[in-house]
Order: sequence, then structure tokens, then C-alpha cells
Amino acid sequence: MRYLSTRGHSDRKRFCEILLEGLAPDGGLYLPEHYPQVDDATLTAWRNLPYADLAFEILSLYIDDIPAADLLAICRKTYTEAIFGTAKIVPLRPLESGLYLEALSNGPTLAFKDLAMQLLGNLFEYELTRRGEELNILGATSGDTGSAAEYAMRGKKGVRVFMTSPKGRMSPFQQAQMFSLQDENIHNIAVEGVFDDCQDIVKAVSNDLEFKRQYKIGTVNSINWARLMAQVVYYFAGYIQATKSNDETVSFTVPSGNFGNVCAGHVARSMGLPVDKLVVATNENDVLDEFFRSGVYRVRGSADTHETSSPSMDISKASNFERFVFDLLGRDGDRTKALFHDQLAEHGRFDLSLDPAFKSAAQRYGFVSGKSTHADRLATIRDTYQRFGTMIDTHTADGLKVAREQVQPGVPMLVLETALPIKFAATIEEALGKSPDRPARFEGIESLPKRVRVLPADVAVIKRYIASNVH
Ligand SMILES: *Cc1c(COP(=O)(O)O)cnc(C)c1O
Repeated sequence: MRYLSTRGHSDRKRFCEILLEGLAPDGGLYLPEHYPQVDDATLTAWRNLPYADLAFEILSLYIDDIPAADLLAICRKTYTEAIFGTAKIVPLRPLESGLYLEALSNGPTLAFKDLAMQLLGNLFEYELTRRGEELNILGATSGDTGSAAEYAMRGKKGVRVFMTSPKGRMSPFQQAQMFSLQDENIHNIAVEGVFDDCQDIVKAVSNDLEFKRQYKIGTVNSINWARLMAQVVYYFAGYIQATKSNDETVSFTVPSGNFGNVCAGHVARSMGLPVDKLVVATNENDVLDEFFRSGVYRVRGSADTHETSSPSMDISKASNFERFVFDLLGRDGDRTKALFHDQLAEHGRFDLSLDPAFKSAAQRYGFVSGKSTHADRLATIRDTYQRFGTMIDTHTADGLKVAREQVQPGVPMLVLETALPIKFAATIEEALGKSPDRPARFEGIESLPKRVRVLPADVAVIKRYIASNVH
């Protein structure tokens, strides 16, 4: 399998080459040259596999530069009951007739990002050891991504993490999750500023090519193909749990922000998984809902980006969306580049409403969308608790609200549960008048000793800090 860029660059690369890279050299995103097809007999055989072995089978279709025995060992080390809380890893929970929650949030940081990030940590360690190289991951987080990255990389050979976050702006639970890590290779940096300051610092450091090369700076953002590929697995696992035979179809609803999660659903469907609809659920930041309804993709300015009670979906543009548009346009790299490079830079928007490709998007690719607001979240959390005794988080609530608008008789609807309610306690209390349940292993984490360095929002200071901690 070779990988290409969505912007038409002529390079073709192998998996381990793109594993440690971010964007392609032309600014595009990497995708496999084709989507391997899974036939009926294969899907039937996969029905009996444990999650780790299913992951190995799917990953093997995309990775041919890691020996099979090593890849299998990596999958079995990653997807264990000890790390993900259940033997099924992503168990399906029936809600009402025809509607299920697929639980993706029982990993170390209680959000679905663990499913991809835990694999990434093991792949990074494997490849860096093989090359005899080191990597210093620099990131900015307002919560979920940073903690998932730290829990994936803690204690890994060859990797250090420098994670900036806006001082005092994460929830106490999120701060405790990250700052209580005592691993030597994990560096929490609380920046005296807001999230945008953290992001600007990461950009400035990454744009200093000399510094970047000397200190081997890398990232783990959601455009990494390996993360997307890891997420494809739970679409197959959800389908297998919800059906008995391969002539049944299911639909998925995905609480969406950067379009990474639902893009993995698009890849699974493109591989032949019998998926009817892929329902994109957004919150008030409805860039994606607007596109799927109108054909217009319009990125938002920061004044136009709302802070909501499902904060992990608060995006101004959807960084993985380019992958789908590339497929939608028949994999035309020049056109994709014209849209994402030229048109977005000039006009902040592009319009595919009159393009025949857009008109057939729902039919050919199954995409539909919907939107949920703070009031919808509160009502959905309350209703789900009262009727089913199940507490859901704010992002999952956005998904459930939109899923109900798209359910069709005879087609099971699987709503992806992207986080546990304990991570967003304030809104749960607002909805239910009581605190969310806390898994036993997180009892009292707020009072654990914290390992964090407070620094000013100053690029030079952050660089000096990194330099003095890389040896
Ligand atoms: C990251 C995240 C999302 C959004 O996922 P994307 O892949 O960016 O679309 C939704 N819910 C939660 C809880 C998240 O952490």
C-alpha cells in the first residue's frame, strides 16, 4: 500500500514514512492510494475475532512495512481489557428499539480518542526504536486531545511530550488527569494565556525549521492517518455486534468536530462495510452541518466560533474534511488544492452546491447531518437518564439528538459515545441536578500531586524550556 496527498503531489509513500509526518509536502493530507475491499467471506470470518485481532486484520490491509508478527503484537498490547475496561473494548448498549450507543470511552482518559492514540503510542515507540531516533511531541490542548496523547505516550521509549494548555481554563477533572502524571517524559506547560496563545506558540515553534530539526519536534494532531485508520476498526466492531448476517445494514451517528471520527466511518463504508447512513452531528459550531445541507463550506472566524458545553466539537474549520472532499471530487488533487488552498485563503469559503458530485453525496456516500444546541443537550441528557437510567455526556447527547431525526425503520442506528459524563460534570449537574458517576480509578485525583510548569505566552521562553529538557 502506498499513500498519496490530497493535493496531487507526485510522491508515493509507505505507512511508516507517513506515520511520523504531519501534512504532506504540498500541504495536503495523506490517504491510501485505494481503499481495500472487504468481501462477504472475510467479513463473516471477522465476526468471531476479538477486537485486537480484528484491528490487526484491518491494519494489515494498510500497513505492509511492519512484519505481521510485530503488528499483531502491537494490536494485542494496545487493545486489552486492562486498558479499555471491557473485553469487548467497544461494547454496544441498546437504548430504545433500533437505537444503540457504541461505548468508545472506557479507555484511560474516558474519551474515544484513546482508541486511536493508544495505538499511535505503541506504533511510535516501535518505529522510533527501529530507527534509533527520538521525537519530541509539541501540542496545544484545551482538554481531550492533550490528555489522550499524554496517556498514550507516558513511559514510551524515544518519545517526550510537551503539552501546552491555557492556565486555569480546563475543568478541574481534566487538569487533574493531565497534571497528575509523574512520568519523566511528560511535560505539562500551563501557559499564561488562552487556547489560541497555545496554538500560536506551537505554530511558531513548528515554523522555526532549524529548531524543529535540531530538537526533533513533531505533533499528534487529528490529521495523522494512523489515528484515522485505528478508528476504522470500531465501525466494523459496531456493525458486527449489531447484526447477524452481512445482508443487514446499519447507520452511524457521529458527534463531529474536526471530521476525523466520521471520516473513519467513510473509509469503513468505502471498504464495503454495509453502512446505510453516516450522520454528522454538530453543535452550535455547524460548519459541517451547513455544508451537508447546502454544499457551501464556510470556515468561521474566532468571533464566530462559539464556546459551547460540548467543547471538543467547538471548531472553526474541520481539519480532516479535505479527505472526504478529495474522494467526493473523484480524487482530483488539483481541484482539491484549488478549493482548500486558493479559495479558502481568498474567500474563506467554497461552494459545491451546483456540482453534481455534491448532489449525489448523500446517495453515494451516505452523508446526512444535523445540529444540536445547549438546550437540546440538556433535554437529551435528562430524557435519557429518566427513561433509561443512562447518563450520557454532552457530545454524545448532540449525537443522540441528531440520530433520532435520521432513524429509519429496520436499520439499526449506532450512536458513537465519544466521552463519559464525568469529563463535563458542570453541564450534567445543570441537566440532572446531580453529579455524574465517577469510575473508581479516578476517585480523588484532584488531590494528587501535580506536575506542571507555568510559563508566560512567550515563544522564546517555551523554546528554552524544551531545549533544557531534551538531552
Ligand atoms: C474530539 C472529540 C469529538 C470530535 O471528533 P472529531 O474527530 O474531531 O470529529 C467529539 N467528542 C469528543 C468527546 C471528542 O473528544
